[in-house]
Amino acid sequence: MDDRKKALLKNLPKIDDLIGLLEKKDVYAKASRDLVRDVCRDTVQTLRETILAASDKELSRITSEAASVVAAVEAAIDGLHQYKLKRLVNATGVILHTNLGRAPLCPEAVERIAEVGRGYSNLEFNLEKGERGLRYDSVSRLLCLLTGAEDALVVNNNAAAVLLVLNTLAERKEAVVSRGELIEIGGEFRIPDVMSKSNGILREVGTTNRTRLSDYEKAIGPETGVILKVHTSNYRIVGFTEETDLLSLVALGKHHGIPVYDDLGSGCLMDLSPYGLQHEPTVREVLETGVDVVTFSGDKLLGGPQAGLIVGKTDVIARIKKNPLNRALRIDKFTLAALEATLMQYLTTARALANLRALKALTEPLADVKKRAKKLAGKLKRVGPPDISYTIKEDKSAAGGGSLPTQDIPTAVVAVKSAAISPSRLEARLRRAAVPVIVRVNEEEILIDLRTVSEEEFQWIADALVFAVGS
Ligand SMILES: *Cc1c(COP(=O)(O)O)cnc(C)c1O
Repeated sequence: MDDRKKALLKNLPKIDDLIGLLEKKDVYAKASRDLVRDVCRDTVQTLRETILAASDKELSRITSEAASVVAAVEAAIDGLHQYKLKRLVNATGVILHTNLGRAPLCPEAVERIAEVGRGYSNLEFNLEKGERGLRYDSVSRLLCLLTGAEDALVVNNNAAAVLLVLNTLAERKEAVVSRGELIEIGGEFRIPDVMSKSNGILREVGTTNRTRLSDYEKAIGPETGVILKVHTSNYRIVGFTEETDLLSLVALGKHHGIPVYDDLGSGCLMDLSPYGLQHEPTVREVLETGVDVVTFSGDKLLGGPQAGLIVGKTDVIARIKKNPLNRALRIDKFTLAALEATLMQYLTTARALANLRALKALTEPLADVKKRAKKLAGKLKRVGPPDISYTIKEDKSAAGGGSLPTQDIPTAVVAVKSAAISPSRLEARLRRAAVPVIVRVNEEEILIDLRTVSEEEFQWIADALVFAVGS
C-alpha cells in the first residue's frame, strides 16, 4: 500500500478519543450516547474505506485529523435531524409520477389526516350501536354511490387488491386470462407473478394480439375459479388486434356460474372525454356490464391517497372481506381519512375538477397553462439569477402512472438556458435545493412544465434557480 494511505489510516482517531473530544460539543442534546458512538464508528469506517479506495488525486484532498473527523461526526448528527422525505416541485409535466408520489392530495384530505391522526377515531367502532364496526364503513357507502357498486372495501394499494381478489377467487383454481393482458405495470408488478403468489393457476388463452370469446369458452372447466380481465394500463396493442369485450365475458361467466373480475388499474370516476382526453371507461360504466368485481388505485386518476379499491357484487365482496389475507393488506386510518375526503370531492364534478390536483392538471385548458408559464417567466426574470434566458415554448405533458399511455397532453414550458452551466448540471443542482425542483432536460436547456406546477410553487422555483446558479 501507498505510504500516504498508510499514514492517513494510522492517523485515524480512536473511537474513545473521538467521544472524548465530542464531550465538549453540544452533540448530546441532539443524539443519545449510544447513537453518537455508532455515528463515530460509521464515520471512521467510511473514512477508512474512502482512503483505501481513493486515487492519488483524491488522496490529497483527504485528511484523517481528529478535528476534521469530529466535524464530520457533528455534521452526520445534524443530518439525522433533516427529513429525507421532502415536499418538492414536480416540473416534469408527468402528472401521476410514481417516483414523485403520484397524486397530490386535496387540501381537505390533508386536513382530515391531521384531524383523525391527532386523536382517537371511530376507525372500527360503530357509533350508533356502540360496538365494533367495519374499517371501510366510512368510505364504502360513498364508493357504492359514486360507482353503482353493491358493496366495496379498500386495501393498501391496487397490487394488494389484485393479490387479494385472485387469492379469494382462484386459490388452487384457474384464472382464465388473455395472453394480451399478462402485463408488467412497473416496479416489478407482473400479473403472472402476482398470480403465482396468490396460489392461483394462470390459464392463458388466445394470442398476444388477438383473443376471441371462443378462446375463453374452450378454457372453462371444473377447475376455473375466475375469468380475469386486466386493463393494459401502460401500453397498447395496435394493428391486427381483437379483444373480447367485457359484456361477452360477463355473459360467459354467468352461463358457467364463474365470477368475472376486471383489474382496471387507473379507475376513473369521471368521464374525461369532454376535456379533450381519450375516453377511459369509468368504474360505473365497467360495473354496468354486470362484472362481479373491479379493482383500481386510489392515487392514479382518482387523485387521492395510495389505496386499492375493490368494488362489486355483494356475494363476491363478502368472500373477499372474509379472506384472512385482507387483514395483512388492510388500509390505515390516515389513508382512509384522505380517501373519504377525496371521494367527497366527486359529489359534484365541479368540486372534483377544482380541488383534485391530478384531475385539474389533466383537464386544464392549454391557454391557462400558457398564462401561468408567462407569469413564471416574468417572475424569474425579476427575482431569478441573472444571465439566464427564459423562453416560453409549447410541448407535451403525460398522464403517467400507467394512465392514458397514448395520450399526449399539450402544455406550455419555460425553457431555462444558462451560458455558465450545462443543462444536466443545472438539473442536478435544482434537485439539491432546499425545496428540490425536478425538471425535464434536453440538449441545450432545462424545461419547467407548467401543467404540473402551481403558482404557489413559483417562489420555490426562483429560490432553487438562485441556489443552483450560485452554488
Ligand atoms: C397500477 C396498476 C396496478 C397496481 O396498482 P398500485 O396502486 O400501483 O399498487 C395493478 N394493475 C393495473 C392494471 C395497474 O394499472
